[in-house]
Amino acid sequence: MRVTQAVALAGLLVLLSLACGAGQAGQSKPGALRVTSTLTQVSALIRAVGGERVQLTPLLGPNTDPHQYELKPEQVTQLARSAAVFESGAGADKWLDRGLAAAGETVHAVDLAKHVHLRSGNAGEGGQDPHWWYDVDNAKLAAAAISDELTRLDPAGRATYQRNAAALSDRLDAADRQIHTKLDPVPAPRRLFVANHDAFNYFLPRYGITLVGDIVPATDSIAAVRPADVARLVAAIRQDHVCAIFTETTIDPNLAAQIARESGARVFAGKLYGDALGEPGSPGGTLEGALSHNGAVMAEGFSSC
Ligand SMILES: [Zn+2]
Repeated sequence: MRVTQAVALAGLLVLLSLACGAGQAGQSKPGALRVTSTLTQVSALIRAVGGERVQLTPLLGPNTDPHQYELKPEQVTQLARSAAVFESGAGADKWLDRGLAAAGETVHAVDLAKHVHLRSGNAGEGGQDPHWWYDVDNAKLAAAAISDELTRLDPAGRATYQRNAAALSDRLDAADRQIHTKLDPVPAPRRLFVANHDAFNYFLPRYGITLVGDIVPATDSIAAVRPADVARLVAAIRQDHVCAIFTETTIDPNLAAQIARESGARVFAGKLYGDALGEPGSPGGTLEGALSHNGAVMAEGFSSC
């Protein structure tokens, strides 16, 4: 390799490492509290409550399926350096356990599922549904728990954390009202829901939406779906005259398209934020943004035929 090539390669590597570092840890904030988070929903809540006082390292990037995730070695190192690790809990980020064990006993883990009201479901640990963040009241409870925990680690930030949590709470309430405004006018018999994955069972009852079925149950991958379950779902869609099948940003929509062909429904073009939020700065980059987006997409989908 010539010197110029070597220099160019070294430059490229530096650029790549800078790009990766920016994606993982965000901007360096001198003196800030170092905190790590698992799911994008948890990361969004911590960003909102912690603000400038917290340097957050999210383990999962936007639009990443959390159920099939495996920690990278450098992420285990990151866990050991954190003042606290916030997990979503109830089985959604079970892969964190091995990372915490490898990082050592000094890592302080906060399980947010212990601070919210869980509903039963077949997706998580102990028969509890881990997708709690799509209930506005649960999101507010989690924000309060994050505020308390950050205050414990950084007492000087108490007023900031409380003010940020209150502002987030107001934004979540505003999103809730906006969703009602979109969905309440849709006649109840049209509010029939089918999606790729059962990530929405906290959202649906809040807005009077009836679940007909999901393609990928629990925390499985789309490869694990059984033909008998697909046949049952096709029959249910036909019987209930379901208009639209919804897909999510994290899951391959091909099976949904096949089910649509067989059942006479259609795959709705707008995608939902399911197990992951979008890029920070995008409409789905915050939890309240993703909730509003999902409400709007569902209202359009229900009314699209
Ligand atoms: Zn899920």
